[in-house]
Order: sequence, then structure tokens, then C-alpha cells
Amino acid sequence: NTQDIKILLLENVNQSGRDILTGQGYQVEFHKSSLPEDQLIEKIRDVHVIGIRSKTKLSEKVLREAKNLLVIGCFCIGTNQVDLEYAAHHGIAVFNSPFANSRSVAELVIAEIIALARQLGDRSNEMHRGTWNKVSNKCWEIRGKTLGIIGYGHIGSQLSVLAEAMGMSVIYYDVVNLMALGTARQVPKLEDLLREADFVTLHVPELPETKNMISATQLNQMKDGAYLINASRGTVVDIPALINAMRSGKIAGAALDVYPSEPRANGDYFINNLNGWEEDLRSLNNIILTPHIGGSTEEAQRAIGVEVGEALVRYINLGITLGSVNMPEVNMRSLTLEEPDHARIIYIHNNVPGVLRKVNEILGNHNVDKQISDSKGDLAYLMADVSDVQTSDLKEIQDALEALSCK
Ligand code: NAD
Repeated sequence: NTQDIKILLLENVNQSGRDILTGQGYQVEFHKSSLPEDQLIEKIRDVHVIGIRSKTKLSEKVLREAKNLLVIGCFCIGTNQVDLEYAAHHGIAVFNSPFANSRSVAELVIAEIIALARQLGDRSNEMHRGTWNKVSNKCWEIRGKTLGIIGYGHIGSQLSVLAEAMGMSVIYYDVVNLMALGTARQVPKLEDLLREADFVTLHVPELPETKNMISATQLNQMKDGAYLINASRGTVVDIPALINAMRSGKIAGAALDVYPSEPRANGDYFINNLNGWEEDLRSLNNIILTPHIGGSTEEAQRAIGVEVGEALVRYINLGITLGSVNMPEVNMRSLTLEEPDHARIIYIHNNVPGVLRKVNEILGNHNVDKQISDSKGDLAYLMADVSDVQTSDLKEIQDALEALSCK
């Protein structure tokens, strides 16, 4: 019964997400900020669903108290504030929204390409200091220039379309063979991209293989006077090497939105955060420094609210785990669930031999219309649509499943 579902939303989760959940008739309690741990523990005992952003730590200590919790919605990109392993092994699914801000990042990069080509940051800073400095030397149009995109995923491919619309030629490098959009062209090696591109922009994940992916060697392979943009992860660019390449004039401009270490809250940053490189970065010309705002737009926040809100509804109402970060992804269409005597059974269990036989013995007294099961590591997720069941049967099935040792 949807009215029985209790939801706790913290950290000012976007209105778009709140509307989706209240629209379902769930009981929603909303708080603008995160809660101190003792209050969080008090509140989490009672709820079936919790929605958080990045500040609420759902550690094992907190989750241990969450006896009724079915699902966690992270209304943000990251999920390392949640003990995902503990949650999974206690049947608590976790959802997030990794791609709702792709367009916002792509648009920021477009803005930066033009800003760097025209030295906009420097001209504006000069005017703020009262200096009129009208120059055209080494200022360029972007039309006809080549954009090299490293990582052609959600953001890289959006950017490809936008850049072509402005008359750039696009080449890209990715570890996977990917279909080019428009007239973009995939190049086989990173080096090929670096040698050809006027602007190089990074859109790869943070991985051991992408750490310092752009360092002195790669900067040397770039065209003289090329530009570098990093709005992916701070570990991907070797900052001292970039500083050298900009000082020598090899690189004519750069934009950094991400850094090897970033503070958790707004306030002073360029103090003891970057191993002493901060002064060097600040002293360079034509470098745009932004505080990880690539995805920070009203539209992205709204889209995150919708994506996570809808994922929670799908999970609560239908047990669908598509997009979950800690459960096997299971989806089954059902046209009959609304009918009387039909029910969907979800069983999350340890993936041990023989378990499905035992489960089917329990379900076998009823008509199993459809069944699907998938596993992720030692965790398995079973979804079965049964007909010919009364409410009292459901309680019996639940008790029998809970009595199995592999739950
Ligand atoms: P995605 O997973 O959709 O795409 C990443 C692409 O990189 C994939 O196509 C993958 O095959 C490719 N790739 C992986 N390893 C590679 C390698 N070694 N060499 C070349 N290509 C490689 O990710 P996305 O959503 O496009 O995000 C890209 C990056 O942007 C991520 O690091 C993400 O964390 C970051 N991001 C930053 C902001 C911001 O605010 N600045 C916002 C959102 C995402």
C-alpha cells in the first residue's frame, strides 16, 4: 500500500524529486539540511526510504539501525557517502544519478573553448583592475578549428554535437570503439588526437589508467599554442607539467574545473590544497579556474530529482533495480500486476548453490507467471510474478522465504 511507505528526504532534495514521491501518495518527511548522526539514527529506524545528497554519511553504524529500510536514493552523482556493501548484503538497494548533468558539463566546455580562444578571462580581469587592453594577437575564432575529445561517453558525445554545430571539426579517442556522431572521427591512438587537435578536452572517468593521462610527454605531443580543458577528474592532468607547458608557451590556455584534492565545503581553497602549486596556477595567463561547477546548474539538479525520484518509485512499486549501484539490475514488464490475486515477489539472497530450488518449492504452490534472476558477486536478486495468491498467502510466502538460511 503506497500510503504506508515512509520516506525521509534530507539535504534539500530538489522539488522535482519530492513531487514525484508525494505524487505516489507516500508519506514524505522533508528536511533542508543533513541531520547530526544521533538524530539520523533516530529517524532512520522508522523509514522505508531515505533520500540524501553528498553530506549524509550512511555508514554501517547508521544502517544497522535502519530495520525497515528498503532503498537509498542519492540525489547526486557520487555514492561513496554510503556503505554500499553493507547495504547490498542487507537487501537495501542504492540509486544515484550519474548522467543527469552531462549537458551542463558539455555547455561549460563550449563556453571555455571560446573564452580561451579569445583570452576572455584575462581581458575581463584586466578591466576589473581598470586596464583597457585591446588586443587581437593570438585571439582566434573557433570555426574550422579541431576539437579533440578524450573519452566519448555521455559528456564527450554531447560536446561533439555542440562543437560541430559551431563549425569545429571533431576527433575523439576512447578505449572503446564508438559510433561517431555527425561527422566526428574516432582516432586509434591518444597521440594521434594530441598531434591534430587545437583544443583538447578530457571526459574520462577516474581510473588507475587515467591518472596523469596528460603529463609532460602528452603535452609535448600537442600542437604549439594548443589549449587544454579538464572538467573530468582532477587526477587526470599532471598539474606541475601543465604549469611548465603554459609557462613555456607550448600550451596557450587551459581551463580546470577539477583538482587532485578538493574541499568539501565552500570557502578558502588556494591554501595548502595543491602541494604549493596554487601560486603557480594563479600566476599564469589565460587559465580559467572554476570550483567543480561543470554539472552545477538548476536544470541538472532538476534532472537528478526526476531520475532518482523515478528510480525510487520503480523500485518501491515494482522492485525494478535498473540503474542501481549495488544490486544486480533486474527488470521485468508486467501487464497483470494490477489484477486481483496477482503479486510480485522479490527475494534478495546470497548466491549459494541450491537456493533457487528451495525458493521454487515455496512459490510452487502458486502459479508463477514469470520469473527472472540475476547476480552480482555473491548477491542475487530474484523477481517472480505469481497469480492465484491471496493476501494471506503472501504472508506465508514471506515467512517461508525469510526462514531460508541464504536470505
Ligand atoms: P561516461 O562513463 O559516460 O564516459 C566516459 C568515457 O571514457 C567512456 O566512453 C569510456 O569508454 C572512456 N574511457 C574510459 N577510460 C578511458 C581511457 N583510459 N582512455 C580513453 N577513454 C576512456 O562518463 P561521463 O558521464 O561522460 O563523465 C566523464 C567524466 O566527467 C567523469 O570523470 C565524470 O566523473 C566527470 N564529470 C565531471 C563533472 C563536473 O562537474 N566537472 C560532472 C559530471 C561528470
